[in-house]
Amino acid sequence: MKLNLNIEPLSAWLTPKHQPLVIAGPCSAETEDQLLSTARLLADTGKISVLRAGIWKPRTRPGEFEGIGSVGLEWLKKAKAETGLPVTVEVANAKHVEEALAAGVDILWVGARSTVNPFTVQEIADALKGVDIPVMVKNPVNPDLQLWVGALERFNGAGITKLAAISRGFSSFEKSSFRNEPMWEITIQLKSLIPHLPVICDPSHICGNRELIPYISQKALDLEMNGLMIESHIDPSVAWTDAKQQVTPAALSDLIDHLTVRTPEAKNPAISDKLAELRKQIDKLDDQIIQKLAERMKIVEKIGEYKRDNDITILQLNRWDEVLEKRASFAKALNLDEEFTTKLLELIHGESIKKQTAIMNDKTVVE
Ligand code: PEP
Ligand code: MN
Repeated sequence: MKLNLNIEPLSAWLTPKHQPLVIAGPCSAETEDQLLSTARLLADTGKISVLRAGIWKPRTRPGEFEGIGSVGLEWLKKAKAETGLPVTVEVANAKHVEEALAAGVDILWVGARSTVNPFTVQEIADALKGVDIPVMVKNPVNPDLQLWVGALERFNGAGITKLAAISRGFSSFEKSSFRNEPMWEITIQLKSLIPHLPVICDPSHICGNRELIPYISQKALDLEMNGLMIESHIDPSVAWTDAKQQVTPAALSDLIDHLTVRTPEAKNPAISDKLAELRKQIDKLDDQIIQKLAERMKIVEKIGEYKRDNDITILQLNRWDEVLEKRASFAKALNLDEEFTTKLLELIHGESIKKQTAIMNDKTVVE
């Protein structure tokens, strides 16, 4: 299913200075000097296309630094005038929108904590009615695709056609090396629902630490995301917010140099031919896998009938354990990932049980 949103291409509102497109700047504007010196160094790299800075910061606990507020917009205006870079800030209510627009902010973004709340999103969207400004919508904190889609729909409904999504990872109960789990499948689902929607990745908030940023940045580009938003601070060690995940402008420049920008299609026709040939082989194998699954299901049905007619239970744990163990060690010998094989077998087994349950429940009909 595709959603019918009216979205302009990224090229209609942003001209990248360099590939890949990178939006960078501090997590928070702290002082005039911090913002201006960071902005100057970022602009000097020639690799940054937009300057970001948080002016109002959504903090988990009160009493923490909640952003420098309106005065930061004045510094941002200076940074923009000096570097010529377009600037972007996070807005979380109608007042933020009004102040940001008055300060000549070029692009707005909606933070993860706002996207979760339809009232907030609607308030921002209403404040933007009749305004022609690009809006980037971060995914909600929780892994809920519909909230993300809903926010994009609300902005589109308010007449915003210069829209982009920002994939910044999702909060998860499980402990992992990431601050927010990438859960790429959700972003991929968003892209298949709204194929022409530009998607930017925010490796800083996914990683939560500097070390993982290059890896996630490359991964995002390989997943055909349209750009990156990376937090950069003149001296990350003393940053007032998100110190661990910010990089210096020099480190960011080096990181960008080490990224490989790949294209969906090869430029060389010989490579395209080879790819087409390999894809043909994959198509054939996929057809065979489906055919074998159908054959397997037919046998499962026969077993189901046999169990039904002889009053045998559907699930026999010993048998299942044995199947799992044997197949998993076979798969391992063939270099297949164990977790992947187990998940696949569990999926097939679940479907088999469903089929057999249906057959059991059919008892009265058959008799
Ligand atoms: C930010 O970009 O600094 C920020 C607060 O991000 P998020 O909304 O993704 O947490
Ligand atoms: Mn931040």
